[in-house]
Amino acid sequence: MSRWRVCGSDARPHLRRTEAVVHGQLAAVWQQDAKKEIYVGLSPLTPQGNETSMGRGLLVAASACLVLLVAGCGTSQPASDTTAQSTGAAGVPSQHTFEADHFAANAIVGDVATEPCTLSGGTTTTCARVTVAGYPSTYQVGPFCPATITTTAQDAGIWFDGSGVYNLDGPFIKNLAQFYSDSEWKLYDSAGNVNVTNTKEAFDGAARPDVAVQYQNHCVEGRLAWLTGGKAIQTTMLIPISPTKASSASSAHPGNFGITLDGVVIAASAPVDAILGAHTIAAFDHCGGHYNPIEGYHLHGVMGCGHLEGDDADGDTKMFGYAADGYPIHLPLEGAALSAANLDDCNGHSTASEGYHYHANGAAKNAILPCLMGEYDISTRAGGPPPGGPPPSG
Ligand SMILES: [Zn+2]
Ligand SMILES: [Zn+2]
Repeated sequence: MSRWRVCGSDARPHLRRTEAVVHGQLAAVWQQDAKKEIYVGLSPLTPQGNETSMGRGLLVAASACLVLLVAGCGTSQPASDTTAQSTGAAGVPSQHTFEADHFAANAIVGDVATEPCTLSGGTTTTCARVTVAGYPSTYQVGPFCPATITTTAQDAGIWFDGSGVYNLDGPFIKNLAQFYSDSEWKLYDSAGNVNVTNTKEAFDGAARPDVAVQYQNHCVEGRLAWLTGGKAIQTTMLIPISPTKASSASSAHPGNFGITLDGVVIAASAPVDAILGAHTIAAFDHCGGHYNPIEGYHLHGVMGCGHLEGDDADGDTKMFGYAADGYPIHLPLEGAALSAANLDDCNGHSTASEGYHYHANGAAKNAILPCLMGEYDISTRAGGPPPGGPPPSG
């Protein structure tokens, strides 16, 4: 595989051209790592994303490098085919392809390289190898668990279980036995302090489906300092440069549904049954993410946080990430817009300006996407947990 480290000065005269190629041609999503679990949710929040011109410039440069590399591999299309992305001619939808410059500054670690890849449906194509930072580029994570049964919503995170999104404030903790109609719930002591995983050992023992007995009836939260090496856990995915529709929808995704433009993994559904079965709450922050020891910070619900792209054209919502099959993922649709969008089984549809793309579910569903319509890379699944290994943690 080739790897572009820096676009040298000799490449600059081609930058504009390569940018056009990027916008017209690179498509694809990330995919890869097999190890995530999690979910997703919905509820749009106020976008917090922003970008720095420097970071964006670097990403554009990275994209240019990527395009040059693709050209070097002989896989790029003629320029005339790659410059018509934003609006298809004669109303024909054009497909949004993978573009590194959509990401926030520092969301991607190092260089974006390309390499041949074989997708889940057998398609052989070119993928972008992307490593995300594993910590949001544009916001600080947390808070998660409330400290006491009187802690207010602004000092705590949220919880969602497939049925709703709830403020994880003190009164919610106090009311759990009634809320879930189960008298075994009691996450606080006689002084009103909430049982929170307050050591690395407690976090490791509780942030997993088979919760250790001593950590049942705990609110589970992690800290960056408790992760391996005390730092964010990076994840590498191979995302097809140009998406390929699969012969059928696949819910057997590669472990992650994708990555956000903020540099965070979009995980599968959180194992709510296991979490609640142990009388634990795997607290999420207000952006729908939380830590586990294996994957670090990951997203189970979409709350509208982080770096966003797009101008809401066609009444659509903004894009916040790429799915593992290379298609863009946009914020949830609601009400009349949702009805009008006529989404398919995987929450996807096509528009003239974007081509095919997904819309996340609301966070309440604990499933950011129900399935993928495109083929995704399978080669990197070896990087996930071993077969028969421990189940994904929460
Ligand atoms: Zn849409
Ligand atoms: Zn999780």
